Amino acid sequence: MAAQRLDGAARAAGILGEVRADLASPPLRGMRLRLASVSVGSHPTGSLYVRNQARACADLGIEFLPMELPADSDEDALVRRIQELNADPDLTGILLQRPFPPGFNARRLQAKVHPDKDVEGMNPANLGLIVYGTPRLAPCTALAAVDLARASAVPFKGREAVVIGHSEIVGKPIAFLLLNEFATATIAHIETRDLSLHTRKADFLFVAVGRPGLVRGEMVKPGAVVIDIGISRVQGPGGEVRTVGDVEEESVARVAGFLSPVPGGVGPVTVAMLMRNTAAAARLQTAKVPSR
Ligand code: NAD
Repeated sequence: MAAQRLDGAARAAGILGEVRADLASPPLRGMRLRLASVSVGSHPTGSLYVRNQARACADLGIEFLPMELPADSDEDALVRRIQELNADPDLTGILLQRPFPPGFNARRLQAKVHPDKDVEGMNPANLGLIVYGTPRLAPCTALAAVDLARASAVPFKGREAVVIGHSEIVGKPIAFLLLNEFATATIAHIETRDLSLHTRKADFLFVAVGRPGLVRGEMVKPGAVVIDIGISRVQGPGGEVRTVGDVEEESVARVAGFLSPVPGGVGPVTVAMLMRNTAAAARLQTAKVPSR
């Protein structure tokens, strides 16, 4: 039987509806939400992801403010800009567009974003709260992947969950969010000796690597929930360029119970989570309590 498709667009629409309601209720009702999108060099508005961010903001009445530093700016110039934005009381969220120029220290930059304006959930204070089991602003893709898995209605508690990929922005936060749900979480990575040994026992399999075809049907437990987070651009036989994930869709769909497609799975939910975080960040600022 073919796996049930986990429809990211439908899930995103549901989340955006909740955010819209949130923005129309106290304490956010009447508040002006302004999200700065900072890049070094030409702002990647051409990228689909950034266009989708801008569109989602426009739909919700959130101001999306592209800010472009000159292409030859150094890391300190970006730090100074972040500090100005932190201090700007009219600005409720800060988004640092990736990838950073070569040589920039992503950790240092993420740590400079004020935790209450950190809509990407990448400041160490916000990442640390996931480890504490009390997430506040968490990384959008990790939230999206777990949310889409939850849409399968298979309970996390007590189940085996395997995450392939151990980055700070995706793999590690997914594993901690799953631990908070009492799943038994395993993280696999480039040095994992026998990937299939782990993936075959997974009731939930999250794949965040960026290698098309990494996970094939024979590596998947029958009935598993498979969440494909990878994004790669590949050229088809006719020269056409397509976006694909890390999962070999045809063989995995024959074995899995649920599968999130690429495109149309985690991607749209990630943008919706960014909007949810943007509203949550604004709420933190209305609370006027010192950040933890
Ligand atoms: P990354 O390069 O930081 O991390 C890749 C991870 O894959 C590492 O942990 C590495 O150890 C592991 N890995 C590499 N080769 C492997 C192999 N052969 N077997 C097992 N593990 C292997 O990447 P990232 O930033 O975590 O992104 C991962 C993927 O997710 C990329 O394709 C990226 O484009 C995609 N992504 C999607 C979204 C979204 O919104 N859908 C957001 C962010 C990233």
